[in-house]
Amino acid sequence: MELQLTPEDQAFREEVRAFLREKLPANIIRRSHTGMHPPNEDDRRWWNRVLNERGWAAPGWPAEYGGCGWSHLQNHIFELECWLAGAPELRWQGLRLIGPVLYTFGSPEQKARYLPAILDGKEMWAQGFSEPGAGSDLAALKTFAVVDGDDYIINGQKLWTTEGQYCEQGFFLVRTEQSDRPQKGISMIIIDMQSPGVTVRQIPMINGEGSTCEVFLENVRVPRSNIIGEPGSAWTQAKFLLSNERTSSADIYKARGDLERIRHIATHEIKDGKPLLEDVTFKSKLTALRIEVDALEWSVLRVMHEAPSRHPISACASVLKVRGSTLQQKLTELMVEALGQRSLRVYRREEAYAEPTGNPLWPDYTPGVVADLLYLRACTIYGGAMEVQKNIIAKLAFGF
Ligand SMILES: Cc1cc2nc3c(=O)[nH]c(=O)nc-3n(C[C@H](O)[C@H](O)[C@H](O)COP(=O)(O)OP(=O)(O)OC[C@H]3O[C@@H](n4cnc5c(N)ncnc54)[C@H](O)[C@@H]3O)c2cc1C
Repeated sequence: MELQLTPEDQAFREEVRAFLREKLPANIIRRSHTGMHPPNEDDRRWWNRVLNERGWAAPGWPAEYGGCGWSHLQNHIFELECWLAGAPELRWQGLRLIGPVLYTFGSPEQKARYLPAILDGKEMWAQGFSEPGAGSDLAALKTFAVVDGDDYIINGQKLWTTEGQYCEQGFFLVRTEQSDRPQKGISMIIIDMQSPGVTVRQIPMINGEGSTCEVFLENVRVPRSNIIGEPGSAWTQAKFLLSNERTSSADIYKARGDLERIRHIATHEIKDGKPLLEDVTFKSKLTALRIEVDALEWSVLRVMHEAPSRHPISACASVLKVRGSTLQQKLTELMVEALGQRSLRVYRREEAYAEPTGNPLWPDYTPGVVADLLYLRACTIYGGAMEVQKNIIAKLAFGF
C-alpha cells in the first residue's frame, strides 16, 4: 500500500531527496544507521548549520515562528525522507515539545528569547516532569517554588530527564501553590540548566548509554517571568505537550527506517544457503510487520489531518502511542532475530561509531542493533506508561 502523491507533493519529495543527497554528511549517515542515539555534535551540526540555513529546522511550526508552512503531508514526507536518508532524528524536546508550548502559551518576550535558539540549535532543552513518586501520577509532584521578590526559589528532584547533561535550558513542572486538587497550583517554568543549585547526574542505561539523568534542584533562583502562561495553569500546557509527545511517539519514521534495515540485513544474511529474505517464515513475519506499519502510518496521517474536536485528541494520541511503541519493540526484536548470533556484536556507542573494519564476520549493519532493542524496552514507559494510556483510551474514547 503506497501513498498516492500529487505531482506537487512528488516534486516536493524530489526536492527534499536532492537536498539530503547533497547536504547530509556521510559520517552522520553511518552513525545514524547504528541505532544509537545520535551524538550531540551530529545533532547540532545537522540542525544548527545545515537545516536551519535552509529554513527547514522546524517543519511543523507555523511560518510566523520560523516554521516551513508546509501541509501535514509535506511535513510527513520531509521527516520520512530525512529518516530514510540517515539524518539525526528531529530534535525532540525543543522542536516537538517546548517549541509548540512556547508559541501557543508563551509571552511575547519568551517567544522572542527562546524560539530562535531552538531553531538554530544553540539551546537544547530538557523535560523536567517526572520525579521519584510522580511519573504516571504526575500531579503528585513535589518540586516546590516559593516567591522571593521577582524570583522563585525552587527545590526538588526530577528523574529520567532525557539528555539533561547536554541541555542549556529545561522546562520544569513545579508546584507554586498548594491546592485541594492536585492538578491545580502546578506551573511550567523555564530553568537555565547552568543556574547555581542545578546538579545533573547521568543514569547508566541497559544499552550502555547514559541518555537520561537525575536533576537535583537546590535553592535554584529563577525569575518569575520564566513561568509559561499563568502561574498554576500548567496542567493545560502539560496536557497539550503530552498529547504532542504521544502522537510523535508513534515514531512512524523510525518504524519505516527499521523495516528497511531489516530488509537490508535479511538480504545479506544467509540461511540454508539462501538469503534470509527468501525464507518463508521470516518473510511472513516481515510482511506482517509491514502491514502494521502501513496501518499505523495511515492512522498518524488521519490524526494529523483531523480537527481535534472530531475525536478527543488525547485518546487518539494514546492509541498511536500504544500501537507505535509496541511496534517499535517488535521491529527491533525481528532485527535481532535476523542477525542471529551476530547480534552479540558489542553495542557500546564508541565502538559502534568507529570506522568499519571490513571484517566479514561483523558487517556494517551489525553495530547498535542490540543497543536499540534494549533501549526500546523503555518506549512503552516513557511519554506515558502503556497501562495508563489504555486507561485514557477507555475513559476518553469509550466513556468507561
Ligand atoms: C528512557 C526514559 C526516558 C524518559 N525521559 C523523560 C524525560 O525526559 N522527562 C520526564 O519528565 N520523564 C521522562 N521519563 C519518565 C516517564 O515519563 C515515566 O517513567 C513514566 O511516566 C512512568 O512513570 P514511573 O516511571 O514513575 O512509573 P510508575 O508511574 O510508578 O508506574 C510503574 C508501573 O505501574 C503502572 N501504573 C501506574 N499507574 C497506573 C494506573 N493508574 N493504572 C494501571 N497501571 C498503572 C505503570 O504502567 C507501570 O508499569 C522517561 C522514562 C524513561 C524510561
